[in-house]
Amino acid sequence: MQTVKEFIAENRENILRDMARLVAVPSVKGPALPGAPYGEGPRNALNEGLAMAREMGFETYDAQGYLGWAQLPGKDPEKYIATITHMDVVPVGNGWDADPWTLREKDGWLLGRGIADDKGPSVLILYALKYIKESGMELKYPIRAIFGCDEECGMTDVEYYQANYPAPAFLFTPDAEFPLCNGEKGHFGGKICSPVCNGVILDFEGGVANNAVPDRAKALVKVPVDKLKKTAGITLEAVDENTTAVLGQGKSGHAALPEGTVNAIGLVVDCLLESGVCNEAENAYLKVLQNLHKDYYGRGVGIQADDGKFTPLTIIGGVISMKDGVICQTFDCRYVTTTDVDTLTCQMEAACGTAAHLEEVEGNACFYIEPDHPAIQALLNTYNQVTGRQAQPFLMGGGTYARHFPCAVSYGPEVQDLVLPDFAGPMHGANEGARFEDLLMGLEIYINALLRLEELEL
Ligand SMILES: [Zn+2]
Repeated sequence: MQTVKEFIAENRENILRDMARLVAVPSVKGPALPGAPYGEGPRNALNEGLAMAREMGFETYDAQGYLGWAQLPGKDPEKYIATITHMDVVPVGNGWDADPWTLREKDGWLLGRGIADDKGPSVLILYALKYIKESGMELKYPIRAIFGCDEECGMTDVEYYQANYPAPAFLFTPDAEFPLCNGEKGHFGGKICSPVCNGVILDFEGGVANNAVPDRAKALVKVPVDKLKKTAGITLEAVDENTTAVLGQGKSGHAALPEGTVNAIGLVVDCLLESGVCNEAENAYLKVLQNLHKDYYGRGVGIQADDGKFTPLTIIGGVISMKDGVICQTFDCRYVTTTDVDTLTCQMEAACGTAAHLEEVEGNACFYIEPDHPAIQALLNTYNQVTGRQAQPFLMGGGTYARHFPCAVSYGPEVQDLVLPDFAGPMHGANEGARFEDLLMGLEIYINALLRLEELEL
């Protein structure tokens, strides 16, 4: 039998070719079409992925364009092992050095939208299945390589999966970092909205995404510029003799890792409150926001929590906007195992009092699997054996597909604390890049890990 290393060496060029094929399909979410719930981009990328799988001789299944899969048969009629990667990508954004949909190679790096997140890993999984198929071994559990189409915009693809198909006995998602993440914080989100205040605030805007701390925010107020205090991080601009723009400049960052950020909305709120220019209803609402923004561990709004497993609960305010006299501030909270969405909702309502109310509250439970679970041990041991390391599993605040399955973890293939050369960018960034050798090592790990999972009692 061919060794895993020989197989990888022999398939190197084919792997590269197939990664280029997938990257070449622009698969940003778009308007729904028949058979394409996330638009034609993700639909076309799924077609390409499934075509590749059929060329390798696998059975494939298309779940109405929500997702699809390739499968290797196994003896157990009840239980199966699964992986899930995704075919959709985030929009291109600015700053690319070349066409984002043409896979480039430079100094051992592959560059293109989706190469790291998550088209490169999707191809790795297909080649892992190819190795197992060509080895001719009989599998106990069927192995299903699922390709999702809505990872980046809400993960409704896996909701569809859960509603229509039995869950795998164990799943891993190659859509994060090695070694392995065995728990993700819960997510709690919503909006804090004001009543119609009829005060001095004419407009309030800031933030680009609910899950990011904004570095810019701006309020337009019916107040002469000399009545406002120039507090920390604030620039005041007179629009006319009675109207002033209050501009905040903070430091942006991700909602899951808010340490070190400065929320620009909070700076504008502080300025308005310290200047004492707003009416009573506005002041009451702004105080709620001040409590939200002053501390990203939720102490200001009374929701702080720490369970000794995860890092403490965090909360940030992402986007603020004003429409028909109502100001709404989104929030994004990552919570730990000692609390839940109902408790948090109740506490947030208390923090709002009569000055504000919550809208569009939603949440996802935490997930946490004990690190001594046999499947986790199998994956971790495989990683440590292939890399020669002694790595331990980690927990995180961000959300992957793993939380949507009953027994699942995220497992590579990105290298932790990866140092990028100046021509390569991170996932979601310009010049998104991954080192080809790292991806190939990921393939070696995935092949060995799947074989070990087959030996377990699931
Ligand atoms: Zn991803």
